[in-house]
Amino acid sequence: MNERSIAVRSVYHATALPVFAEKAKHPIPFGNNVFGKVQIEQSLSKNIAENWLAAMDGVETIDRNHLESIAEALKKWSLGKGAKHYTHWFQPLTGRGAEKHNSFLALKQDLGGAIEQFDAKMLLQGETDASSLPNGGLCKTAAGRGYTIWDPTTPVFLWEDIDGLTLCIPALFISYKGEALDCKTPLLRAEQKLSEAILRLLKMSGTAATRVFSTLGAEQEYFAIDRQFYHLRPDLIQSGRTVFGSPSCKGQQMEDHYYSIIDRRLLAFMRDFENSARALAIPISTHHNEVAPSQYETAPIYEKTSLAADHNLILMEIMRNTAAQHNLVCLFHEKPFQGLNGSGKHCNWSIATDTGLNLLQPKENSFNFLVLLTAILRAVHQHAALIRASIGSAHNDWRIGGFEAPPSILSVYLGDSLESVLQQIIHNRHDAAHTKHTIELYLSNISPIHCEESDRNRTSFFAFNHNRFEFRAVGASQNVAWPMAVINSIVADSLQLILDEIEDVASCHNKDDLFAASLPVLRKHLKEAQAVIYSGDNYSLEWQEEAEKRSLPNIRKSFHSFAILRDPKTQRAFQGVLTSDELNSRLEILYEQYAKEMDIECHLMIELFSTQILPAALEYQKIWAKSIKRIGDLKISEGNQKKHLSLFSEQINGAIDAIDELELNLKQAQGLGWEALAKVFCELLLPRMEKARKAVDLLENQVDDSLWPLPKYREMLFIR
Ligand code: ADP
Ligand code: MG
Repeated sequence: MNERSIAVRSVYHATALPVFAEKAKHPIPFGNNVFGKVQIEQSLSKNIAENWLAAMDGVETIDRNHLESIAEALKKWSLGKGAKHYTHWFQPLTGRGAEKHNSFLALKQDLGGAIEQFDAKMLLQGETDASSLPNGGLCKTAAGRGYTIWDPTTPVFLWEDIDGLTLCIPALFISYKGEALDCKTPLLRAEQKLSEAILRLLKMSGTAATRVFSTLGAEQEYFAIDRQFYHLRPDLIQSGRTVFGSPSCKGQQMEDHYYSIIDRRLLAFMRDFENSARALAIPISTHHNEVAPSQYETAPIYEKTSLAADHNLILMEIMRNTAAQHNLVCLFHEKPFQGLNGSGKHCNWSIATDTGLNLLQPKENSFNFLVLLTAILRAVHQHAALIRASIGSAHNDWRIGGFEAPPSILSVYLGDSLESVLQQIIHNRHDAAHTKHTIELYLSNISPIHCEESDRNRTSFFAFNHNRFEFRAVGASQNVAWPMAVINSIVADSLQLILDEIEDVASCHNKDDLFAASLPVLRKHLKEAQAVIYSGDNYSLEWQEEAEKRSLPNIRKSFHSFAILRDPKTQRAFQGVLTSDELNSRLEILYEQYAKEMDIECHLMIELFSTQILPAALEYQKIWAKSIKRIGDLKISEGNQKKHLSLFSEQINGAIDAIDELELNLKQAQGLGWEALAKVFCELLLPRMEKARKAVDLLENQVDDSLWPLPKYREMLFIR
């Protein structure tokens, strides 16, 4: 029996389930491990608490004189809970959080021994080697100092792991010269930019609010498979994706996984990680089976974007850890399995005020809503390539453009009633209002139901849904802070421009006439931007043709979108968020990561083929050849066997050739700069990889099942 067969037979038994089921019966109090509002108010004087809470809302800076008291309160709280270490928790451009644990221990000779120490300096600032993290040339190895700076907008929390509790201080990450090296800094700056622009609008319309923020509910899709299979797939371990793998006979074609009854093993896992999320005040509200076998979704209740983005990152870590305890592994890659649905992180995004308004609720205030909607449409139209770049990566490319994920053309879905309102503005006409749509069920005991104002469109890149936009193209593994920073920046920039124009024309009017006076401005921008509005099936061929007529960019490969970061239009939209140096560094990182990721995958293909697949295929060929020879010796008819063996040998040769070709091209690409290398991977190596995969997957379907070394799709996805 090979390792794979052993794994198939010994997949984790359900015996441990009652342990988790029991654990799940005792929910951890919400926010148990967070130093939130209640703790702040209870442990600090009124003015310090008020200042800290205002800083958490992003409206005040923490008074330096308060820092010692705050550090003392955090020390007391975390030591009281048993924490031994603290860390600045930050978000370098790796897509994951980062930490460096320091113990609270300090030696004090004068006090005759060790004490536990945590002071203002340790709270406020950490120092690290930034050159060893992605920095796009901003830090050199010889001059690579970087700093982590406390970010008070997300509450301090305690991370629980096998080593006990660690005090985590959410932090920003910057270079020695102060350049942003993380995902969070631009997001906070973009939030600030958005707030300034919208407050200007609200002032104009006389809407009461002192603070505006975007809101985010990030629906997280993922696969969960048994850990034993994962350990036998070097490709999953190292690249997050199966670089080889033939589809199983049954995949998702029966449409029987979406919303189906959740398997007990998975349910125990979900309840377990949700419980840990509760301790960190991460408000999970939904879980369900997704479309592909072994694919799931978990969704939180939305929060202000900066907090929701942190929570999503923390949640992914919780899920990774909890999965290990259940002998499962969570796959966050956008396309772990070819031929099945990929995983996204649909970002539901809206804009709210501190006075409780959702500004994207069509009826809240029609003037605010229409101006904002115009600004959003203009932003998406003007910056389509940038939005594409914000979700661009080698891994998301395997998913985008497929017939289950958003296509590579950027469009906005608004729904019939909103589209009709905009058409009336554009054409200066007045149509009869849409009446609310009801559905008669023809059942005597159930009354007719009222429908939403507009339908949903799952095929759209950026779809309006009731009172928010759903940015569906974001990848499952991504840190959402970056795409959210992009959306907030371009909307803020667009809004400022529109408000400038409205102010010019509306200055001679009184407030009541504001709407009428603004209409020509809105009309002009809506006319220009309406090309991005599309309500039909975004997967259809007609849309591809139509989009071309509308001159909308159709960027199939992320590589072709990255250069937009250099565009003066992008640099303008990023004013106050990222400088041109910071943008250039991010561009460099995009190319670098794209090339490195593809390079890893190519090497994985070569290694897996040479060390596991080819030996299995040759062994099978040998057995078969021997068998034919034996029956020949016995004068038994070999029928078509020789022909089939010869075909199989040709397939082996085809796979060898395809892998050789890949290897040769890989060697030729060495020594290029990141951008040139990324281009070679995108244009030359990608087709080679696809060809090699086809050739190898063909072998999988021929070789004796007991010789095949890699767990198959039918096993990874269907055995739980
Ligand atoms: P579906 O999959 O049907 O689209 P889900 O319930 O899975 O819906 O996810 C919807 C997400 O949208 C949730 O995370 C929810 O909190 C979020 N959401 C709802 N209203 C808003 C809003 N105003 N701003 C941001 N996100 C929102
Ligand atoms: Mg959902």
